[in-house]
Amino acid sequence: MFENNDEARLIQLQHIGRCYRLADRTLPVLQDVNLVIERGESCALIGRSGSGKSTLLNVLGLLDRPDTGSYHINGTDIAQASTDDLAALRNRLIGFVFQSFNLLPRLSALDNVALPLTYRGIPPKQARVQAHAMLEQVGLAERGDHRPASLSGGQRQRVAIARALIGNPALILADEPTGNLDAATAQEIMKLLIDLNSRQGVTLIVVTHDPDIASRLARQIEVRQGQLYESTQR
Ligand code: ADP
Ligand code: MG
Repeated sequence: MFENNDEARLIQLQHIGRCYRLADRTLPVLQDVNLVIERGESCALIGRSGSGKSTLLNVLGLLDRPDTGSYHINGTDIAQASTDDLAALRNRLIGFVFQSFNLLPRLSALDNVALPLTYRGIPPKQARVQAHAMLEQVGLAERGDHRPASLSGGQRQRVAIARALIGNPALILADEPTGNLDAATAQEIMKLLIDLNSRQGVTLIVVTHDPDIASRLARQIEVRQGQLYESTQR
């Protein structure tokens, strides 16, 4: 499908280190992390609470820079990118889905979904037309005028997924996306994410501590003591 490995690689982490500086000491969280994720893959990040899953996701999502090592995303070396470049890459390449949905409470579902396009300078009317199409895709076309407070947890997460998708991202990063949902709703949300991966080729990385959810993704990578462990040989 791709001419060479470089094009197939969406993500390449080499010798990544990330630590937090506390008042009295430094807390190393990621140490010498290496990871390649190809376009169209699906991957679960698992590991105990506090193991560094969100820290890794924040690096992958260009919300944080690593302290050491190199990170290439879509062929761009982020060490060479300015903060503005990172924001632009993030806006163009990545959709985020969070455990707590992170919707803006005062905006309707439709306007929450349209927001990333508005940030890109797309006129509001056009953004709303696209947002409506996205809500339709996640099965919420009739709920566009609802504010988040009048939606169920599963519906809120659908809105958040529509918002993540509207910019046509290459990559979706989901941090415990089913953590606040009951088991049946969690299954529906995972089905939606997995369908996006398998039908539209969106690369999908999901942090979860639920082994059943992890097993539905093609790769399972454990974060443990600052390093990554992948059980299946590739
Ligand atoms: P996980 O998502 O796997 O539960 P995190 O990546 O959130 O783990 O956290 C990894 C470690 O880093 C934990 O010990 C956590 O307390 C610490 N940590 C996370 N964020 C910060 C921060 N902003 N400042 C200091 N320590 C942090
Ligand atoms: Mg976390």
